[in-house]
Amino acid sequence: MTETVRAIIYDLHSHTQASDGVLSARDLVLRACERGVKVLAITDHDTTAAIEDAQTAIREENLDLTLVTGVEISTLWENHEIHIVGLGFDPHHPAMVELLQQQYQRREYRAAMIAERLAKAGIADALNGARQEAGAGQITRAHFARYLIQQGKAETMAQVFKNYLARGKTGYVPAQWCTLPTAVEAIHQAGGVAVVAHPARYQLSTKWLKRLLAYFAEVGGDAMEVAQCQQAPNERQQLAKYALDYGLSASLGSDFHQPCAWIELGRKLWLPKDVVPIWEKFPALAAPTRG
Ligand code: AMP
Ligand code: MN
Ligand code: MN
Ligand code: MN
Repeated sequence: MTETVRAIIYDLHSHTQASDGVLSARDLVLRACERGVKVLAITDHDTTAAIEDAQTAIREENLDLTLVTGVEISTLWENHEIHIVGLGFDPHHPAMVELLQQQYQRREYRAAMIAERLAKAGIADALNGARQEAGAGQITRAHFARYLIQQGKAETMAQVFKNYLARGKTGYVPAQWCTLPTAVEAIHQAGGVAVVAHPARYQLSTKWLKRLLAYFAEVGGDAMEVAQCQQAPNERQQLAKYALDYGLSASLGSDFHQPCAWIELGRKLWLPKDVVPIWEKFPALAAPTRG
């Protein structure tokens, strides 16, 4: 053989300006193409608003890119905020539309509460500031973070979360997100696949992480993210083992929010050999075969 076979690059977790990503849907799909991604899911926080623009851009620019519909739903499980990614569903299905409408209300309510708390701590006008950062997009803590940096309250995102927005800090307000099974059910009703996002990022002990995955599988969840572009050594192998242990297929994604030195669309996204790739178990998510 003279030719090496290159695996198709899937990136099934990314963000646009429709939530806390920095790029427009058009710029995101163009960038994904430049990076060699063949199948991309846009998974904005509790919104599917970018999907139509992304599809339009792919068509207009005639890009060799398959877009999988996506969303990242914030849920509450045992007092932990767990993110559930939905893939390959109908964004217009009433069950999904209704859930995302509720999540929108929860975000709006929490944003007002965050601003109130920050005001009491002497930081004025944070709701307007964050909203300006969000533009037409769904409001998130990342927008508050950018406003606080702009106000000189911190220098980096990590710092601003640590000092103001993380659990227990001045600007932290616990959100009343939907439950985990509610998210799984809405995704299923809309014809999609439910995935635990970035399982290693919840700061759960091994015991609790296993509990989460067992519960997720028990309520009908389908898959978990195994590969991200930035992971601790051995993390990918460990997550692959959990995927096998709990009968979940394996997904992967950069969780790209903005151009930066460490996280890039499609970068280092491969799955360990023994897991079941999500697109094999659910062929609707697979790259189209060429004839
Ligand atoms: P929310 O869903 O509104 O609670 O916002 C959470 C978002 O803030 C996440 O999706 C990340 O994009 C961002 N975020 C959370 N923690 C950090 C952190 N420590 N550093 C930078 N960004 C963060
Ligand atoms: Mn985010
Ligand atoms: Mn997330
Ligand atoms: Mn994400």
